Amino acid sequence: MPSPPLQSRQWLFVDADDTLWENAVYFEEAIAEFTEFLDHSSLSPAEVRQALDAIELRSIRVHGYGSKNFARNLRHCFEQLVERPFSQTDLDRVVAMGESIMHRPIDLLEGVAETLEYLSRRHHLTLFTKGHSEEQLFKFQRSELGPWFHGVRVVKEKDAAAYRSLLAEGDVEPDAAWMIGNSPKSDIHPALEAGLRAVLVPHEATWALELTDLPEPSDRFRIVESFRALTELF
Ligand SMILES: [Mg+2]
Repeated sequence: MPSPPLQSRQWLFVDADDTLWENAVYFEEAIAEFTEFLDHSSLSPAEVRQALDAIELRSIRVHGYGSKNFARNLRHCFEQLVERPFSQTDLDRVVAMGESIMHRPIDLLEGVAETLEYLSRRHHLTLFTKGHSEEQLFKFQRSELGPWFHGVRVVKEKDAAAYRSLLAEGDVEPDAAWMIGNSPKSDIHPALEAGLRAVLVPHEATWALELTDLPEPSDRFRIVESFRALTELF
């Protein structure tokens, strides 16, 4: 038997990209367009992707996330792999493939708006996302989900230290705090390490660099099949 929803007021920290709205799929589309434009004679699309991931891993430590940085990484990847003479126009075109992500519509995932409305009546909700602050806030504004959240925090990286400051700033008891999100690397492991509990809401488009092994489900770590299913826990 599943246990009934928690009755006491909890602190729910909710991820944004690929938890509330589509995001990775826009990057995938840009990468597919890039791979086609690069038109490499011997590297497969998966190998081009590996080269790009390696550039991203190095770059994120210095510049962080966000579509502007992604666009710069695409340009570096193009310069590194291209086999034909290229012009500034070609580089501009590659950069535009990355930057266009910023202007994609906010496509809320199934059941998100009504589930947040329900959760916000029972619990304290904070949006907790990593990335470029202005870009994340712009998406949040366009999502029109503002009324269901009590607060918003954007950080450069969601590591255990970031979760600890989140708890300290809000004077939150770790036992009553949950992180909810799609990324094992950013939403689950560091939250558990900092003493919060965590719920994974899987999204099939989750970026390879966000995937790591998952812990066994327990009282402190749950997996739900959809955002809507959070109403069974909370
Ligand atoms: Mg996410």
